[in-house]
Amino acid sequence: MILDAKHEMQRKLFREFAETEFTREIQDELDETGEFNWNMHRLMSRYGFMGVHIPREYGGSGCDYLSYALMVEEFARVDAALSIYANTSNSLGGGPVLLAGTEEQKQYFLPRVASGEKIMVFALTEPGAGSDASRTDTTAVADGDDFILNGRKTFCSGAPVADWAVVFAKTDPTAKGSRGISMFIIDMDAPGVSLGADEKKMGINGYPTSDIVLEDVRVPGNRLLGPLHKGFKYAMMTLDGGRLGMAAQAVGVAQDCLEQATKYAKERRQFGQPIASFQGISFMLADMAADVAAARELVYAAAELKEAGKDATMACSIAKYFAAEAANRCAYKAVQIHGGYGYIRDYKVERLYRDARVIPIYEGTSQIQQVVIAGNLLKG
Ligand SMILES: Cc1cc2nc3c(=O)[nH]c(=O)nc-3n(C[C@H](O)[C@H](O)[C@H](O)COP(=O)(O)OP(=O)(O)OC[C@H]3O[C@@H](n4cnc5c(N)ncnc54)[C@H](O)[C@@H]3O)c2cc1C
Repeated sequence: MILDAKHEMQRKLFREFAETEFTREIQDELDETGEFNWNMHRLMSRYGFMGVHIPREYGGSGCDYLSYALMVEEFARVDAALSIYANTSNSLGGGPVLLAGTEEQKQYFLPRVASGEKIMVFALTEPGAGSDASRTDTTAVADGDDFILNGRKTFCSGAPVADWAVVFAKTDPTAKGSRGISMFIIDMDAPGVSLGADEKKMGINGYPTSDIVLEDVRVPGNRLLGPLHKGFKYAMMTLDGGRLGMAAQAVGVAQDCLEQATKYAKERRQFGQPIASFQGISFMLADMAADVAAARELVYAAAELKEAGKDATMACSIAKYFAAEAANRCAYKAVQIHGGYGYIRDYKVERLYRDARVIPIYEGTSQIQQVVIAGNLLKG
């Protein structure tokens, strides 16, 4: 796709920001300590990145899906973990409020999330409900105007630094499958809310992940998000947008792999010549370039489809599936082209290999994307 002047300009600005601010020192610190970088969060907030895809009337910049995808891609091209800093508010965090919130909820939560003043995360997965997210064991029982929540959510990105979490809980225990699940916004400092340990992850370190434990948490009725018993539908709708973001993240990582490998292949000499002159190496680079180009086109096409208000579920799944796998093919080849140095932390491709690995897992594994794609193909 040829970007129009506006999107081309946005790409340039996102790229300049990431290349200037995501220094190698910061990247290494995030990877080594796993700690959230509040200064970076504040800086990105000041630039308005937290609200890129949140409408202007709710404090965001009201940019379209393509702009959002370009931001995540360009940030991930420099650092995958930092791309999540600006992603969550625009997708899994702010998304459910935008999709299902009352006007009052939108007016209250979205401006705070868009400005970066507050962090809102998404808590769907449970120990027994991963790919089959509808198998939720968390319960919400009505008590007067309130609800009492009990359960455990797992792998919640950003939970250790969050102010609010969108939590899914069974409100009708008699309902089967994905029915009878409702969505709530909980305060992370409410009595009964606690965190599991910070997960020690393979990659995307610096954006902490933990369980959220709910023990008799009283949630006021005005924190019910969307209609009672109908929350699962909104989880799936949110994940459509989220998958687009993670597909864009994959494109950024894949592009970085290609750039790192190309540079190295031209510099590194063996048998008296640059290794790029060996067909075995140059064809790997060609395969990577083809993967990056195809993945990017799928992401931009899915973004346009979503923007046009069309059913983009299949397009988002295809983009996420292809781009996530492509990023991992590229990361594998980038390490291979670096030889032994690719296995050493001094070289960025070592981290890219680890960062890429989660993309075919979160927001629906590659197998679940295949289930969605096949289901769409075969329905009717
Ligand atoms: C770093 C990280 C961050 C995360 N962030 C969040 C977050 O912010 N919020 C949140 O709610 N969740 C989050 N998750 C959870 C993530 O979405 C789940 O890990 C993912 O959906 C898979 O669930 P599972 O890990 O339980 O694996 P399982 O569902 O147990 O899957 C195990 C394997 O079985 C395969 N499988 C399962 N069902 C099928 C099927 N029907 N057909 C074929 N194969 C199948 C899977 O593809 C996988 O290979 C995060 C996970 C990680 C690792």
